[in-house]
Amino acid sequence: MVAEKGTVSTTNEDKHDVLQSTQTVIHHALEKLGYPDEVFELLKEPVRLLTVKIPVRMDDGTVKVFTGYRAQHNDAVGPTKGGIRFHPNVTEKEVKALSIWMSLKCGIVDLPYGGGKGGIICDPRDMSFRELERLSRGYVRAISQIVGPTKDIPAPDVFTNSQIMAWMMDEYSRIDEFNSPGFITGKPIVLGGSHGRETATAKGVTICIREAAKKKGINIEGARVVVQGFGNAGSFLAKFMHDAGAKVIGISDAYGGLHDPAGLDIDYLLDRRDSFGTVTKLFKNTISNKELLELDCDILVPAAIENQITEENAHNIRASIVVEAANGPTTLEATKILTERDILLVPDVLASSGGVTVSYFEWVQNNQGYYWSEEEVEEKLEKILVNSFENIYTTAQSRRVDMRLAAYMVGVRKMAEACRFRGWI
Ligand code: GLU
Repeated sequence: MVAEKGTVSTTNEDKHDVLQSTQTVIHHALEKLGYPDEVFELLKEPVRLLTVKIPVRMDDGTVKVFTGYRAQHNDAVGPTKGGIRFHPNVTEKEVKALSIWMSLKCGIVDLPYGGGKGGIICDPRDMSFRELERLSRGYVRAISQIVGPTKDIPAPDVFTNSQIMAWMMDEYSRIDEFNSPGFITGKPIVLGGSHGRETATAKGVTICIREAAKKKGINIEGARVVVQGFGNAGSFLAKFMHDAGAKVIGISDAYGGLHDPAGLDIDYLLDRRDSFGTVTKLFKNTISNKELLELDCDILVPAAIENQITEENAHNIRASIVVEAANGPTTLEATKILTERDILLVPDVLASSGGVTVSYFEWVQNNQGYYWSEEEVEEKLEKILVNSFENIYTTAQSRRVDMRLAAYMVGVRKMAEACRFRGWI
């Protein structure tokens, strides 16, 4: 079981304020679509944010008090939906921005949800299995009043996985006094998880890479790919690209990167990584994450965490296509530089929407009590992602905007319309 998403650490310095940059693009998108200012006033922040304190009995007998958040961006379209992140750098602002990104993703792939996101400030790498269980259960008790299968449905995110989802589902079921599989997605298959959920984010990114490569006239067979982050998204993605005949020449984790112009042995690396996606510690000849991003390649996939491509390194990126598997890996200044340099940037809210898409399938299956085959899941995912890519690519072309602004325009429109029909604005 590998934690969702990647493993490159960062601090959220204010100079790269993810909330502010998201608000800037939302404002721009709403303006382009002709919505009045009050729509922006409503959508620029989550409608609800809960901050909780979670006391946890540690294995040594002491009690440690953790801080957690759950943000619900907008529930006009339907219940809110989005992952829970366990990371030492979680902040209130970050959780707010992540909840907005979830709303956009759900709009882009046309799911009947608004966006939500949770986070706990903690370092799961320094915690025991039982401490993590107590923290996960304590968090669910603390947020139980505002979540539920028809209110807000959590899922995995950075450093959380199907085991953590199982504990959370069990805790919620005890509170609810029902077996409530539809409370959370990303569960183990035996507890109502969906086939294809664990690999869904990477599958979605793979589809976006394939579609972007077609537009750029790049053949996937033999294309040189660099992947930053070896968590749930990055590691499976490296495998899928390798299996599709691409040459994965660089990968990295929080501690550094590996580079081989002849192509890395991805199956070996997958076999040796730990549950947090760490693998480079086993090697002597490593490069830094900074060097990794600037490698000569065709396709670069930041699959870790925010603010990795900034105005400082955007001029040095040598890929023709950048596909954002992580949430928020490229700053707005960097987006502008890459676009000016004619690098095709497939934004996070589109590229990483495969995860929430299969989460939706999982929730539908839980509600129906009828389960689908892996082929069925993949076929449906493929159709949704190809259509969404094409929709955003065409919007970008016809409106003469970059793919990020086009994705925001597509993502925000349904939400704004739902608010209007409900009479909120
Ligand atoms: N954490 C994932 C994301 O950022 C998945 C969310 C979900 O499945 O609800 O998209």
